Amino acid sequence: MPDRPPRLGDVIDDYCPKCRLLLNHDVASLAPDGAVAKVTCRTCFNTHDYRHAQLPARRKGKTGGDTKSLMEQVLAGMPAPPEPPPAPPAPVRKRRDLWAEVERLKKK
Ligand SMILES: [Zn+2]
Repeated sequence: MPDRPPRLGDVIDDYCPKCRLLLNHDVASLAPDGAVAKVTCRTCFNTHDYRHAQLPARRKGKTGGDTKSLMEQVLAGMPAPPEPPPAPPAPVRKRRDLWAEVERLKKK
């Protein structure tokens, strides 16, 4: 990569907040000091502030690891689930009755 200041239209890597990925971007605007100010995603064409290819920190709290530990806390405080009742016998008789019903209707 040539060691020159960035110019409009240059392709640079940046994090796209819309795609949530590190993608190719076009330089859309430059600051007066020549630094990249805004970039346009080449995938979704969303223009946003240049993020210096930094991925945002993963959110903590409501989502992520805390949810699991909270769930584990709740489960630990619960009594063991009771044994499930034995499965009832398969309704064989009912099915036979249904076929008998069909035969009865056919005869009519
Ligand atoms: Zn994008």
